Amino acid sequence: MCKENHYSDRQLTEMIHKGGLRPSAQRIAVLSFVANAKRHPTADEIYGVLSDKFPSLSKTTVYNSLHALVEVGLIRELEIESGNRHYDLAPQPPHSHFVCRTCGKIVDMSMPEGVSEITTPGFQIDCIDVYFKGICPECLNKKQRQNSKLNN
Ligand SMILES: [Zn+2]
Ligand SMILES: [Zn+2]
Repeated sequence: MCKENHYSDRQLTEMIHKGGLRPSAQRIAVLSFVANAKRHPTADEIYGVLSDKFPSLSKTTVYNSLHALVEVGLIRELEIESGNRHYDLAPQPPHSHFVCRTCGKIVDMSMPEGVSEITTPGFQIDCIDVYFKGICPECLNKKQRQNSKLNN
């Protein structure tokens, strides 16, 4: 959403500290990956990348770090496909997500205006998730190239 907003380790440490957590190296690395990679990773993807950097890192530590960061509101969970949780940086301007049906990529899109005004009165709403689904430009291109090959 926000253009290439890169969070330094110092900023991330401060965010974790303000959230009331101990800024351990693993928590900083997990938050940094979610905040800076902009790819809405799953816990497995985070583990896969970070285990290169921290050979002693366990999957449990990644899960525990994610849970702690979700709890203090720094990370939010996106439940897009059954059982597959993806993680996004929580302190961001409201945005919606596009999910590619072909490659599964999740891309930030703008939030349609006035979404919060069309809710039914009497409900306390604490979270609004908007998802668009379809095919991303890269997959569309690939498909077109394949089709033109077939036609030639
Ligand atoms: Zn795609
Ligand atoms: Zn997002």
